[in-house]
Amino acid sequence: MDIRNGFVGTVGNTPLIRLKNASEETGCEILAKAEFLNPGGSIKDRAALAIIRDAEAKGLLKPGGVIIEGTAGNTGIGIALVGRALGYRSVIVMPETQSQEKKDMLRLCGADLRLVPAVPYKNPDNYVHYSRRLAEELAKTEPNGAIWANQFDNVANRQGHMDTTAQEIWQQTDGKVDGFVCAVGTGGTLAGVSMGLKKHNEDIQIAIADPMGAALYNYYKNGELKAEGSSITEGIGQGRITANLEDAVIDKAYQIHDEEAVLIAFDLLKSEGLCVGGSSGVNVAGAIRLAKDLGPGKTIVTVLCDSGTRYQSKLYNPEFLKENNLPVPDWM
Ligand code: PMP
Repeated sequence: MDIRNGFVGTVGNTPLIRLKNASEETGCEILAKAEFLNPGGSIKDRAALAIIRDAEAKGLLKPGGVIIEGTAGNTGIGIALVGRALGYRSVIVMPETQSQEKKDMLRLCGADLRLVPAVPYKNPDNYVHYSRRLAEELAKTEPNGAIWANQFDNVANRQGHMDTTAQEIWQQTDGKVDGFVCAVGTGGTLAGVSMGLKKHNEDIQIAIADPMGAALYNYYKNGELKAEGSSITEGIGQGRITANLEDAVIDKAYQIHDEEAVLIAFDLLKSEGLCVGGSSGVNVAGAIRLAKDLGPGKTIVTVLCDSGTRYQSKLYNPEFLKENNLPVPDWM
């Protein structure tokens, strides 16, 4: 029998897909984990589950308790759904600029959604700080307690990726993996997979694919946290070294412009039937760069973080693309 136990038992163990065009273009095996197949629809189900299990193990989260988080959306969806499955309520703070699809989904999942203006991290009203303060307030009044998930600086996030994502990649490739690349939101995925894979083989090359508007490309290239430009991608683009990123070995850094990422996303849909979000376009662009750096014959792994259906009003909307000076494919 092959039966998974509810939402929680269905998180992870995603298939590893060979990407045809990227592999042909580079002479490498370009493989991507189908994280959009997680039960909440994104890679962040893994972080949500790892953070909640960690809080339970530490006795911080009691039955009927409340989980509060600031999120670009996907972590909130994961937390709300794990909460539904395990009996916790969720309060989700999100910048109002995120896609309507994610807002609708959060409300449907039962989250108490609080939209806040999108302001930089250094502003005390940034969604991350707002969610921390809200958690502190709710902890005083909630009868069953309230916790702040704190995905950026709670290393239970990267530990979850060390224990699951990295081990799955190692097993699915029979250890024949030469490189891993992805973008960073919290850094949980990149740092956790780096630590998990390098425990097996420290020569595996780990690369960050950074969108415009983020500061980490410059940091890993020349030690300077410096950002320029902007990006339409959601869930990625970090301006600081989060606790999840601390001590993680990142060997290479690539900067990916939106145009490069969206053209790859469009090609994945048109030529391979894979409808993915913008961060997946950035990730596959990074995989192609890493493959070209390492040379033919190598195996490069990345992640397809979520589905394009979460961005139909943006990435797959000709009007939105035109407004942002991005190419509109003739078939769209
Ligand atoms: N892509 C998407 C669509 C996301 O929602 C996130 C998480 N915010 C990421 C990528 C980045 O993952 P991580 O937080 O593990 O760095």
